[in-house]
Amino acid sequence: MTLPGLMQHRDLAIIDIIRFAAAAHPTREIVSRNVDEPLWRYDYARCFDRVAQAAHMLHALGVASGDRVSSLAWNTHRHFELFFAVPGIGAVLHTANPRLPDDHLIYSLNHAGSRTLLFDRNMADIVERIRPQLQTIEHFVVLSDAERALPGYGCYETAIAGEPEYFVWPRFDEHAGAFLCYTSGTTGDPKGVLYSHRSVVLHGMAGGLSGSFGFSAFDVIMPCSSLYHATAWGLPFAGAINGAKFVLPCDKLDSASLQELIRDEGVTFSGGVPTIWTMYLDYLARTGETPGSLQRVIIGGSAVPREMAVTFDALGVTVQQLWGMTETSPIGVSATPTPALEELGREGALEQIWTRQGRMQFGIEIEIVGEDGQPLPHDGEASGALLVRGPWVLERYFRANESACGEDDWFDTGDIATIDRFGFMRITDRKKDVIKSGGEWISSIDLENIAAGCPGVRIAAVCGVYHPKWEERPVMLVELHEGIDLTEAELLAYLSERVAKWWLPDRVLFGPVPLTATGKIDKKVIRDSHKDILRD
Ligand code: ADP
Repeated sequence: MTLPGLMQHRDLAIIDIIRFAAAAHPTREIVSRNVDEPLWRYDYARCFDRVAQAAHMLHALGVASGDRVSSLAWNTHRHFELFFAVPGIGAVLHTANPRLPDDHLIYSLNHAGSRTLLFDRNMADIVERIRPQLQTIEHFVVLSDAERALPGYGCYETAIAGEPEYFVWPRFDEHAGAFLCYTSGTTGDPKGVLYSHRSVVLHGMAGGLSGSFGFSAFDVIMPCSSLYHATAWGLPFAGAINGAKFVLPCDKLDSASLQELIRDEGVTFSGGVPTIWTMYLDYLARTGETPGSLQRVIIGGSAVPREMAVTFDALGVTVQQLWGMTETSPIGVSATPTPALEELGREGALEQIWTRQGRMQFGIEIEIVGEDGQPLPHDGEASGALLVRGPWVLERYFRANESACGEDDWFDTGDIATIDRFGFMRITDRKKDVIKSGGEWISSIDLENIAAGCPGVRIAAVCGVYHPKWEERPVMLVELHEGIDLTEAELLAYLSERVAKWWLPDRVLFGPVPLTATGKIDKKVIRDSHKDILRD
């Protein structure tokens, strides 16, 4: 029998994060754009007051411990307040994704079983449209000021006005549910991942560490990953734990709007999916502007094209890749330097960092296994199914009767990866995207990355398409920069100098690349549109 430790049993609670920020960094600012409203500016102390007011509002709406509350909202200060108020009273915030197709959105709201929905003003059309099919929602509240309230709905500012700026926050078990995030359902119905107070706090603490986001109180964080997508990578928590300033861009993710915030608010750190940064770099090239105070950009959700990292580096901005998924809260690995890498010299170290998703971090174990389930060597060559486990990895999906994990808690991510001797992991593909050509595998990610380096190419997407002889062959869809003329032959010539001949796509198509609700290349749509292209 072990000897019980004699330290306090104080449950980890999300409310303690904002309570701490308000006490330790009371005057540090939070600046937010909002739908059709002037820029909002306040500090952690004032934010905590309003979190208390929001908690009173939730009580007044009848929200009780364990209830789900849904939001359909952008990256704004009001959504940020809900991130603390809802879990603070022991309820669960379901951050619905407005970019999902209606059927998936309706499914997730009904599946969550929320009775209250808080939404941004410009989501009113969606809400009107899907309202007849929402089975459990009784209260609809618009996240706007009183001036811009919408008739027929509650108004957030009106509802919190006059509520006390103090709340007696309940204490409860740290395993209690706090956030309900749905996967984007690229395969089947969306699946709910229910984060707990414990998982969110541990993940937030780990996210700030130097091997991950490496925050300090001097950072000015502008999350361009959505608050509704896996809690914007936990940035609200990692940032508040470190007393960083926040700059919230609402839904205005166009490059001119982002650049204005970077310049005016002194943003040092931002993060988002590659497509946002493709547009941003285009904008800088077009206007001749510079990234100013921006020091670091974390890019995740899809592989970072090497070209993007090189361009940012030339502008003096460090690019750090992040790999994760909704099921991992989402931080899995992040690419940051180590002394062992530095020995490779600047070029060697950068090469390693830019071409890998990241390195092992304490708190989340990673392993790769072959088809027999046995671990593969960490030699950077062997690739296999990527397994993860740790205190912020899911155990089972919301309302599922069975665990989603295999033996010893390992969760199969559905990604295929290598791990090298430095502990760096490289995703070669998603299991469902890897192209099986004549018994060999072709990495769609590698092909996309190489094609993205070809001058004139904006985004390249590669899919495996049925082939009568080889089973599957790659087909590439390329979106070009404006005014560029590039032919299939020219692109193939570029690729053939860089990949094995049998990797070359059988067909290169030109046109807009469809994106998913989370801003990733929508391979399902591409595959479906071109599934018969190589039949004869
Ligand atoms: P979904 O897109 O299914 O909703 P997530 O948004 O949780 O799910 O995405 C998780 C997946 O995104 C990972 O399993 C991986 O395939 C992909 N992904 C995330 N980050 C990266 C990255 N840096 N490089 C390559 N793939 C990534």
